[in-house]
Amino acid sequence: MSGDGRPGDMRPLPAVPGERPPKPRPAPVPEPEAAEYWKAARDGRLVVQRCDDCGRHQLYPRARCLACGGPVSWVEASGRAVVYSYTVIRQNYARPFRDWIPYVVALVDLDEGPRVMTNIVGCDPEAVSVGMAVRARFEPVSEEAGIALFEPA
Ligand SMILES: [Zn+2]
Repeated sequence: MSGDGRPGDMRPLPAVPGERPPKPRPAPVPEPEAAEYWKAARDGRLVVQRCDDCGRHQLYPRARCLACGGPVSWVEASGRAVVYSYTVIRQNYARPFRDWIPYVVALVDLDEGPRVMTNIVGCDPEAVSVGMAVRARFEPVSEEAGIALFEPA
């Protein structure tokens, strides 16, 4: 039998919540077809897929072009985008997100066309607006992945 519950056997109390070090941003476990995207972001580059036949860009990664079914290749994107929509998160009880409150979750339209979900960083959340020009910046989160975030251009 364990001694659970007896006064002398209690494990130390957890640290006071405010005193714990912040958790890092969660890292994705890349699927093979998306590994190129995550690795590029790890290296500070934004890549998207471009159709070899019709030239359309797409993201997230797919095996074939969504428009014409043609083969696709990875190409470097400009990193420029415009805010399509956004919301300011003011409540989140899970770490590390609660450490960032308030923060902005946004959909941005890349110059190349794809619409992606991201965070807008590097400015006050109240300064974000629809149509705002933003540019990519990157946060490494593991040996094999980085996260593309956007900041005012
Ligand atoms: Zn195509």
